[in-house]
Amino acid sequence: MEKDKLMEKIVSLCKRRGFIFQSSEIYGGIGGIYDFGPLGAELKRNLREEWWKKFVLSREDMVGMDSGIIMNAKVWEASGHTTAFTDPLVECKKCHLRFRADQLDDAAKCKEGGEHELTEEKTFNILVKTHLGPTEDSSTLTYLRGETAQGIFVNFKNVLESSRMKLPFGIAQIGKAFRNEITPGNFIFRTREFEQGEIEFFINPDKEESAKWYDYWIDQYKNFYIDLGIKSENLEVVPHAKEKLSHYSIGTSDIEYKYPFGQSELAGIAQRTDYDLTQHQKFSGKNLEYFDEESGKKFVPYVVEPSMGIDRAALAFLCDAYDESDGTDGREKGEVTLHLSPKLAPFKCAVFPLVKKDGVGDKAKEVYTTVKGCFPASYDESGSIGRRYRRHDEIGTPFCVTIDYQTLEDESVTIRERDSMKQERIKIDEINSYLFEKISK
Ligand code: ATP
Repeated sequence: MEKDKLMEKIVSLCKRRGFIFQSSEIYGGIGGIYDFGPLGAELKRNLREEWWKKFVLSREDMVGMDSGIIMNAKVWEASGHTTAFTDPLVECKKCHLRFRADQLDDAAKCKEGGEHELTEEKTFNILVKTHLGPTEDSSTLTYLRGETAQGIFVNFKNVLESSRMKLPFGIAQIGKAFRNEITPGNFIFRTREFEQGEIEFFINPDKEESAKWYDYWIDQYKNFYIDLGIKSENLEVVPHAKEKLSHYSIGTSDIEYKYPFGQSELAGIAQRTDYDLTQHQKFSGKNLEYFDEESGKKFVPYVVEPSMGIDRAALAFLCDAYDESDGTDGREKGEVTLHLSPKLAPFKCAVFPLVKKDGVGDKAKEVYTTVKGCFPASYDESGSIGRRYRRHDEIGTPFCVTIDYQTLEDESVTIRERDSMKQERIKIDEINSYLFEKISK
């Protein structure tokens, strides 16, 4: 399938089935912001949960936190964002559209005809400004956070003292970030409001372990995607050239995904040294050193930062899972299946009565209530069973349970697996343990 068409189809499926909507659509929308509908909210919740389980709950060297979206404006001065969080901006003198000078390949055509006539490059700060408090002057100016990382750095001492962690250890958080992107686009790939999952992993600078942990976190993040279903051939680790490194980094690699619109950044892993803590120490006047009991020395730790966009990951999982049958796999040509990992799928199970009458519908409702108590599940009684399977294949539901006349006699149901389309008969009281076993694999 043509790549453009594929993206169009994914966008249309997301809207039609309630994964993702344009924000404020009834008012004509707003550039670079999207809303997640019933299924999209579940997909993102599952993604966050998997991330939190893998990187926080299952590790002894990590703690989580949840900082405010708005912080003291000095945080952003200290971090360098008020001066260096910029993109190069150019404007077409004819049509007045504005573009990122380093992304002109993606630029829309000039509406006035011919080529764009571009102005000189200017720097454009992408922090989103706001005022907090009852006046609107420079004393109340602050920002919506441009990354979740700074909330971690400014709480380093609080977390250290309250949790008594020892190096090496990490602090993780998931939350919203805001950037006034010059050219948001490619659906939820580049938006102005998005979610990040970030870890600041603190290490002893004397031990020269930065490169080791950097490689380690690149692997951890790559495996996170692969374990949840992304084909490894669609991922590539791309190190940044030395001259393109951010002001704070001594080494950064992106994990890129082959999106339908081209290979682009999914996550970034950076060696940030002691830049952030040192800056906050300088600007706040507070000591942010770590006391190392082993050596008896005090120092500002180094940090390795694995940073992931949750929305970009959701898009990659949707693209990777999308499949349209060519008619040779037992499905009809054009039928869509989302091969989402059962861990990410919005519904784990759908329950169908074969017919509504003769007590079959009532029995199905009973089964549905039992399953729904343990797993996100859906009840569907309209149309043929084949049609109901197709409806659920299209949103990635991994298992469908059908209740029929035999169920009334022996308490057995048919359970059908999405990818293989294999069906087997199991007892009603086995459904939840069956689902648990398949989903937790
Ligand atoms: P890009 O080069 O694409 O602008 P970046 O290098 O500025 O991204 P980082 O500051 O490293 O991005 O942010 C970490 C992660 O946050 C990125 O890997 C990406 O997944 C996500 N992210 C960054 N900007 C956006 C955005 N505008 N929309 C959605 N996700 C984003």
